[in-house]
Amino acid sequence: MKTALLVPVYNEQEVLPFLWEQLQSVRKSLPQETFEYLFVNDGSTDGTLALLKQWAAENSSIKIISLSRNFGKEAALTAGLYEAAKADAVIILDADLQDPPELIIPFLQKYREGFDVVYGQRSDRRRDSFFKRFTARCFYKLYNALAVRPLPENAGDCRLLSRRAVQAVLSLPERERFMKGLFNWIGFRTAAVPFARQKRKAGKTKWNYWRLWNFALEGLTASSTLPLRLWTYFGFIVSGFAFLYALWIAAQKIFWGNPVSGYASLMVTVLFFSGVQLISLGVIGEYLGRVFIETKQRPLYLIDEKTNCD
Ligand code: UDP
Ligand code: MG
Repeated sequence: MKTALLVPVYNEQEVLPFLWEQLQSVRKSLPQETFEYLFVNDGSTDGTLALLKQWAAENSSIKIISLSRNFGKEAALTAGLYEAAKADAVIILDADLQDPPELIIPFLQKYREGFDVVYGQRSDRRRDSFFKRFTARCFYKLYNALAVRPLPENAGDCRLLSRRAVQAVLSLPERERFMKGLFNWIGFRTAAVPFARQKRKAGKTKWNYWRLWNFALEGLTASSTLPLRLWTYFGFIVSGFAFLYALWIAAQKIFWGNPVSGYASLMVTVLFFSGVQLISLGVIGEYLGRVFIETKQRPLYLIDEKTNCD
């Protein structure tokens, strides 16, 4: 059986030698397996590509797809899945050793037991900062409250996909690819392998909180239309209250002859509802933007060159 290890890399020259070392030791412990190493260079600006090419020149099981610029991890993964689609199973790993390559062993074991999707579950996130853990928790809670199909908590992109699971992911045509959501959407027999998330071995993370926030928004809007529908309910509720309030004001005037007053309450109401309307417009805009991007039908990524690929 042939297993493809898919590693997206973006400016990872510092960590690649460590990764390679660990991959080799895993390979030695699984002598009966055939591995191919598929690196997707996501527009690195450092020596990553040169280093990979140097390795690939000596080792034909190292394949490289180099994208024409940085398209983001989701696009890089998609490019890799297309290339690896012929392998019996594909295993996705981060380059920075945060997902320990030893996971390959239990992943393959589960695959043999008949699972199509085996994902690494971060059972121990103590090495992530408090804020990161907190925001991740909030995201999963919100996502699972909204989405039709809840995401397992603490599952990253690190996973094994059988060939038919890869085909299933590739059959989803959307351009905005929230991979975790797609991996989860396809279903099939799924197993989790718990592991302790490591600290990044070398180099720097490519994600800042602004990027993560946008990623979260993309994930939510890609997986649920509930935020759009909420406004309808909210509108009904507010209109109901407004109607009752109107009756109340009328009654006051008729029965007690109160002069109409209330600059403050008027101001608060107007400002509050202007805000609410802007928010709801923003939500609609968010979805409209996604529709716009989908209708443009642009390719997800462009390939600059391939090495050792067939
Ligand atoms: N990555 C990528 N393109 C990007 C950003 C990241 O291919 O635009 C790769 C990166 O090289 C690494 C993996 O995605 O292999 C995870 O990135 P990182 O470690 O920066 O993310 P974190 O672990 O901090 O979430
Ligand atoms: Mg990382």
